[in-house]
Amino acid sequence: MAEAVTVDAFVRWLKHFAETVHKSAGHLTQLDSAIGDADHGTNMDRGLKAVVAVLDTNGFDSPDALFKKVGMTLVSTVGGASGPLYGTFFLRFGSALQGVESIGAEELGKAFRAGVDGIVARGKAELEDKTMYDAWAPALEAFDQAAADGLAAALSAAASAAAEGRDATTDLLARKGRASYLGERSVGHQDPGATSTTMLLESAAATLV
Ligand code: ADP
Ligand code: MG
Repeated sequence: MAEAVTVDAFVRWLKHFAETVHKSAGHLTQLDSAIGDADHGTNMDRGLKAVVAVLDTNGFDSPDALFKKVGMTLVSTVGGASGPLYGTFFLRFGSALQGVESIGAEELGKAFRAGVDGIVARGKAELEDKTMYDAWAPALEAFDQAAADGLAAALSAAASAAAEGRDATTDLLARKGRASYLGERSVGHQDPGATSTTMLLESAAATLV
């Protein structure tokens, strides 16, 4: 199976995401300053630095062991709303891969969905609430639609759909999280969490195949 995703590839994904968030921390925080409390970039950067430190000092013999540690590290270091949400994503994502022998498009799609189900279970976001879920929902759909064409196609379709979902958050009125306190004043600003989620999927497309 030339396509099977390895633990090493998952580590490359996480490091790529950490680097992207680090470079974009100012941008993410600026987006959060418009509709939140100006900490999304620093929150995510702090958590992902802790993740990279864990990756550099531990070996993992399975994806579920890897993502369990990643999820727990994010929960304990990111803080804010996004810490538990990203943490839950990775915990559920890893659990879904437990015992899976060869991780191809189908298995990865199921794991993404399990992770996002965790985000929804925790944050109760619905479509168009102006949250990270507005990037995830179209990404999952695009991934599944392209899965038959292989992993590279599915990941690339998911990343593009996430970016469209992210862009569409600008016009939405926030109904969840801190931005919802602003009511109408949240309209006209892109959601920070949907922006970092798109980075996560772009990193996946760049590293998992
Ligand atoms: P906080 O809002 O606590 O300061 P962050 O600034 O790190 O946390 O993260 C804000 C992002 O979290 C938002 O842009 C949004 O995408 C996401 N978010 C907030 N609440 C929810 C929720 N209930 N469900 C899904 N995502 C949410
Ligand atoms: Mg914030």
